[in-house]
Amino acid sequence: MNKILVTRSSMPDFDEYIEEIKDIWESHWLTNMGPKHKKLQAELKEYLGVENIDLFVNGHMSLELSLQALKMQGEVITTPFTFASTIHAIVRNGLEPVFCDINPDDYTIDVSKIESLITDRTCAIMPVHVYGNVCNVEEIQRIAYKYGLKVIYDAAHTFGEKYKGQGIGTFGDVSCFSFHATKVFNTIEGGAACFKNPEFGLDLYRLKNFGIRGPEVVDAVGANAKMNEFSAAMGICNLRHIDEEIAKRKKVVERYRERLGNVSGIKLSPIQEDVQSNYAYFPVVFDENVFGATRNEVCDRLAENDINVRKYFYPLTNMFDCFNGKYNVDDTPVALHISQRVLTLPLYADLSLKDVDRICDIILNI
Ligand SMILES: *Cc1c(COP(=O)(O)O)cnc(C)c1O
Repeated sequence: MNKILVTRSSMPDFDEYIEEIKDIWESHWLTNMGPKHKKLQAELKEYLGVENIDLFVNGHMSLELSLQALKMQGEVITTPFTFASTIHAIVRNGLEPVFCDINPDDYTIDVSKIESLITDRTCAIMPVHVYGNVCNVEEIQRIAYKYGLKVIYDAAHTFGEKYKGQGIGTFGDVSCFSFHATKVFNTIEGGAACFKNPEFGLDLYRLKNFGIRGPEVVDAVGANAKMNEFSAAMGICNLRHIDEEIAKRKKVVERYRERLGNVSGIKLSPIQEDVQSNYAYFPVVFDENVFGATRNEVCDRLAENDINVRKYFYPLTNMFDCFNGKYNVDDTPVALHISQRVLTLPLYADLSLKDVDRICDIILNI
């Protein structure tokens, strides 16, 4: 039996990539916002339907530097049910995370609990469109407006999604995407920040390039977070095939839903109305009392069959060892409950329906 990994990076044909990087050999322009960077930026702006976009070396730096460019101080309300990057972007800016619980169905931030967490030190809300499930953007905007808070979306999972026909990157003050190898769209490593305010964009641009304003002026303590030309070239190629890739993912997801949709003890993410999905992940929540096996048992059984799944997102970010018990996971009981029961199943464009069936058979035979 072939080994199945949880994900497999999308790549263009070898010859297509070689063709795309030929100019780089002619120009010797390898990085520092060259022609490939400019081209990809323009194409993404159009594809994502956003007003402004800037490219980064990875998604994490787009989040971290966006918080810095917004000159945030104090507390940031976020959720613990996410990848390490979200919380690290907050803490590495000297900000304090305040953890809000999540919805039990779509796992995004529970907006009914945000207001009770706001203090006079709250500066921002950092929600996550987790697994590509879109947050309650209207309610988040209403709260942010009422209390004068900034909103920074971790949109790492929502590349290309639309909500009510509008590009997902248009919500909040900033929305950050990841173009990591494992994401729906990749530039090998990469990311982007989408934003409304062009002045913020200038600050952000400076921060990704050492805080350099001009040849003789460095007026911000920046980092180096530029996307190089080879990554941009990969993005240009992958973007040509993205709609096809998402369509293939959709087929895989539909098969999973068909096979696992009506099994007692297995809960799937809801299909969100008004959302044009990118089929980024396929999370499955096991209720061991009904299903008869725990998440860990399912995980082990799949591993025995050379099928690699992830306990995404376990542990919660408010349980990380690096925080030495500083946060109380009991403050976010729904997130804790889900993180102990969730698995994300293998999902990528080229996963065959035969393999999906094999995965489902193993789960259903437990
Ligand atoms: C992948 C990911 C990131 C970070 O992106 P990188 O490009 O890997 O730096 C941030 N947040 C979430 C939720 C992610 O899944």
